[in-house]
Amino acid sequence: MGLQLYNKKRNFVATPEPKDRPKGKVKASASQLSFVVQRHKASRLHYDFRLEMEGVLKSWAVPKGPSLNPKDKRLAMMVEDHPYDYKDFKGIIPEGNYGAGIVEIWDHGMYSDLANSQKRKAEKLLLAGLESGNLKFRLFGTKLKGEFALVKLKNNEDNSWLLIKHNDGYAVHDEYNSEDDTPQNSPINKWLMANAKNKTVKKKKS
Ligand code: MN
Repeated sequence: MGLQLYNKKRNFVATPEPKDRPKGKVKASASQLSFVVQRHKASRLHYDFRLEMEGVLKSWAVPKGPSLNPKDKRLAMMVEDHPYDYKDFKGIIPEGNYGAGIVEIWDHGMYSDLANSQKRKAEKLLLAGLESGNLKFRLFGTKLKGEFALVKLKNNEDNSWLLIKHNDGYAVHDEYNSEDDTPQNSPINKWLMANAKNKTVKKKKS
């Protein structure tokens, strides 16, 4: 997919989001692939699930957030590739910009194919999985651990996938809500509280 669409949607003078790097200066993880899950309060609160492949982050917007319960099938809308540097991005995207709001890192770590292959082989297997619409992988995150799958929905809009936890030692069988796995004092939650207070103050004045 490349980063053309990423670049087209953004004005890097106005947003602090990372710029695409010039060809030849693209960064990538040294020996193991990275993943990140960002929690993003834009017009709606959602989660962005990103997997590194060949120097970019393959990206899905997950409205309800990931789940550790294998019974949950979380809708994941595939969006434009993001640059590798985006894995460290958090902060405010100012009003008027694409995705305006606030981003925080909800989980991150390394990931691999199910066999924990060497990076180059893992990338090949993962890209083949992506192509076939059935991508299986293992996450080594702080919150998200073990086997997961992203399965493309057929007979549906082109970009709809389901994010599903495999039943392994890291699966939970009680109800799982990623919001409950988010600290109450996370940057977004603080920002939301501050905004709510400002609104109340403004209302009182009028
Ligand atoms: Mn987003």
